[in-house]
Amino acid sequence: MSKSLVPTLKLSLEMTNVLSRVERNGLRINLDTLEQIREEYTREMEELEERLNDMAREAMGDTPVSLTSPDDRSMLLYSRKVKDKKEWRRVFNLGMEQRGATMKPKQRTRMSRGEFNQTVRRMTDVMYKTRGEQCPKCGGFGRVSPTKKDGTPGKAIRICKTCGGTGILYVPSNTVAGFKLVPTDSYDVATAGFKTDKNTLEMRSSDLSGDALEFVTAYTRYNALRTYLSTFVEGIKNNVDKKEIIHPEFMQCVTATGRLSSRNPNFQNMPRGNTFEIRKVVESRFEDGLILEGDYSQLEFRVAGFLAKDAQAYLDVEEGTDVHSYTASVIGCTRQQAKAHTFKPLYGGVSGTESQRRYYSAFKEKYEGVTEWHDRLQREAVEKRYITLPSGRQYAFPNARWTQYGTAVGRTNICNYPVQGFATADLLPAALVRLDKLFRAADLRSIICNTVHDSIVIDVHPQEKDVCIKLMREAMLSLPQETMERYGFRYDMPVGIELKIGKNWLDLHDV
Ligand SMILES: [Zn+2]
Repeated sequence: MSKSLVPTLKLSLEMTNVLSRVERNGLRINLDTLEQIREEYTREMEELEERLNDMAREAMGDTPVSLTSPDDRSMLLYSRKVKDKKEWRRVFNLGMEQRGATMKPKQRTRMSRGEFNQTVRRMTDVMYKTRGEQCPKCGGFGRVSPTKKDGTPGKAIRICKTCGGTGILYVPSNTVAGFKLVPTDSYDVATAGFKTDKNTLEMRSSDLSGDALEFVTAYTRYNALRTYLSTFVEGIKNNVDKKEIIHPEFMQCVTATGRLSSRNPNFQNMPRGNTFEIRKVVESRFEDGLILEGDYSQLEFRVAGFLAKDAQAYLDVEEGTDVHSYTASVIGCTRQQAKAHTFKPLYGGVSGTESQRRYYSAFKEKYEGVTEWHDRLQREAVEKRYITLPSGRQYAFPNARWTQYGTAVGRTNICNYPVQGFATADLLPAALVRLDKLFRAADLRSIICNTVHDSIVIDVHPQEKDVCIKLMREAMLSLPQETMERYGFRYDMPVGIELKIGKNWLDLHDV
């Protein structure tokens, strides 16, 4: 084992102890609130489904589309249908392949903007709104009895070829069907046509307006509700114990970056932000107890600034610049929409619509240090086939080599892993381990009950509110000392934290 990994190993072992305690403590669930939320989500989802189907009908004419079919969704959103899917897969090099020991997505065919647009035009048909008419061949029955050679009606009954057995013919009009989203590069391509997943749609939404924006917004919410119901509501219901406590299991060695994951139920991949309704079901187990959450502000942005030693990032943090407003001003969208883009360049993101790419170039110029650091990381990955964080943590990139475009294979991960890993696998665990030590030394009845990415959650005994706040603050702000003790350097980026407290995990107010 490389000697540089010793501090990482030590931290992981300490974390194992802390996490086993956090797991045993678990989170107290209010089952009545859970049921109430299940009903609300279900009702909202059903209403949305109806509205989405109405909008789809409005946009497609009589051509039937199903929201659960990726082909139909692609057609509905992008107004195009792939002529030959086999050829489509070949041209864009879609699918999976064996690389090393695992199956990985194949490398997409790279194309210039013009080349891409031309290929899409050549390989797809524009969809037009249709009007359904009774099939003249079968009279709407969908079945025909072919006449025999002698002209008498035959006994055999066959499916009508003209209408495919539906009895309906869809006659195209001159109006383009669907919501006319415009794919920008080969990364938008999917086997069904074009991608319709949450991230793609979120990225696209800043360029949409009118019906298309309304549909995409409703569809994104609809999908989120399905996940909420299956992952969180059902997940909690199925895992709650007799004392109405759930014990999510934490895993340190599942994600590639070293960030924690959890299961039974999954409490890590929650929507960001503090407005996620399901948090309301988590309450204190103590009578008149409270839930206290400590969050690091802009942890990943600050970590990227620190790792890159980017002067502008340090300045922005010191001056309290609102980075999302800057993004919004460059892209020309709302601050809320801008949030999906602000940090994308930190992770080596380069593709997108014209206004998004304008922002990415602006970012590259504004944060020169980060840009140079991305270049250094790629050189290191190509030369050594691995990269090393200041903490000694290493990431292997066995396939790293230069492409003809002057970037390294796996560029996104090469740029992303250090930020995510240092923030959520090195820094936050160090603070959590310290908090656990402080808690045990103080012999508190309050308990650490959860941690998600850049936050720590405490179930606070009513008589220990002040001491919990004090210890949370002390532990979370200890990053400069922690890094010095563990790794021999000081994390010198200003550390920002937000502490919130309340009667459940949703209704929190600032401490
Ligand atoms: Zn027919």
